[in-house]
Amino acid sequence: MWLSGPQPDPVELPVKCPQCNVDLVPAVRHKLKVNTCPTCKGMWLEYQELDELEDEVFDFGEEAKGTLVFQSTSTTAQCPECSEFLKKFRYRLYDLEMEFCPKQHGYWLVEDEDNRVLELMKKEEAGVKRSVRAEDQWTATLKRMRSGSFLSKVRDLFH
Ligand SMILES: [Zn+2]
Ligand SMILES: [Zn+2]
Repeated sequence: MWLSGPQPDPVELPVKCPQCNVDLVPAVRHKLKVNTCPTCKGMWLEYQELDELEDEVFDFGEEAKGTLVFQSTSTTAQCPECSEFLKKFRYRLYDLEMEFCPKQHGYWLVEDEDNRVLELMKKEEAGVKRSVRAEDQWTATLKRMRSGSFLSKVRDLFH
């Protein structure tokens, strides 16, 4: 007999909304299976699901995406999976606050924040495409400047 009692098997507990404490229900948002709250319409994204959500519009890889969480503050809401207090952060320093479990279980998004993530990612994507284009143009300009024909053209101007 174990004095400490048998270790409970890891069971799929019904995950509860960190805000309303009601059971979350599975739903599909943007092709992802997430758990949403029927009361406040918030949603729980598993750790990698936020990344998958972003990748639907922006798949330039981690490097281009940069840092997700810069700073975070404590909250009194609890992780639906481990009851750890969630931390609040500004998503990629945008004006969008969401919460995450410090044990990396997932992210809590309030109603429609997934749509804002997609919107912001579209902007990021446009920004990266712009800078990639600008870089290409600069490289092309440098090549042209270094080429003999360009220099001879410049010299020609002063003749
Ligand atoms: Zn709720
Ligand atoms: Zn957790």
